[in-house]
Amino acid sequence: YRMQETKERQLMPPVDGVQGQCLLWKVTILFYLPLRQIRYLPDAIINAVMRMRKMKDKGTLVVISGFSGAGKGTVSKALVEKFGYSLSVSATTRQPREGEQDGREYYFKSEDDFLRLIDYNGFIEYAQYVDHYYGTPRKFVEDELEAGHVVILEIEVQGAMKIKEQYPDAILLFITAPSIEVLKNRLIGRGTETAEVVEKRMRRAAEEAESIEQYEFIVSNEEGKLEDCMNTIHSIIESESCRITKRQEFVASLREGLEEYKENIDKDK
Ligand code: 5GP
Repeated sequence: YRMQETKERQLMPPVDGVQGQCLLWKVTILFYLPLRQIRYLPDAIINAVMRMRKMKDKGTLVVISGFSGAGKGTVSKALVEKFGYSLSVSATTRQPREGEQDGREYYFKSEDDFLRLIDYNGFIEYAQYVDHYYGTPRKFVEDELEAGHVVILEIEVQGAMKIKEQYPDAILLFITAPSIEVLKNRLIGRGTETAEVVEKRMRRAAEEAESIEQYEFIVSNEEGKLEDCMNTIHSIIESESCRITKRQEFVASLREGLEEYKENIDKDK
């Protein structure tokens, strides 16, 4: 009987006297204190989620313009590959060039379809460039910005100005060849345009040069130095995205977090 009692005591020690008080303290320490913290847990989770949602500042819109033949297409694609930026695919009424695919370089549209898309508010901007329409589809850009991505628009000057009106935080970059001679040779060397079109594009370049001051940055795309050009653009994008004015929500979330921390300390006192 004694052995049985001892076994029971070992399994279920008595809860009276000094031993009982000890147990009470242990229970308090083990359960009550963590429970006090747990009381704040749902709030803490909700606040953390809210803060994370707020911290996710909107993405960055980067407009890359430049004279035809400056190499902005090559630079934009390389930026996408190297840094994972999103590239908006425009719609156009011009004919595809050899090797161009619908949905990859452009969405090739008839003029009627393009005009219908304008009516449906399908573009965030559109412009006419050397006899054809070009436009930036709205949905892709809005979705990508909402997801917090860097979105590149490779568009001409009129379109860039319309973007700046709607998105004042957009970064406007102008890419150029190191000289006009190089520019002309690149356009001719490309062999995709007739002499007449090359001339039209050079004339258009002269018009576009009038608007260079509307841009914030100018980057020269030198022969054989694509990597340098890309890195320069990448560092511009990086430093612009650290501007305090662009991180307002992040700053607000830091302040909110600190306020909450102070409140919790005061509650516990
Ligand atoms: P290309 O015919 O050489 O592909 O393009 C002619 C010009 O149209 C280039 O300067 C190019 O940047 C511009 N462009 C391409 N897509 C758009 C667009 O969606 N909107 C505007 N405004 N210009 C565009």
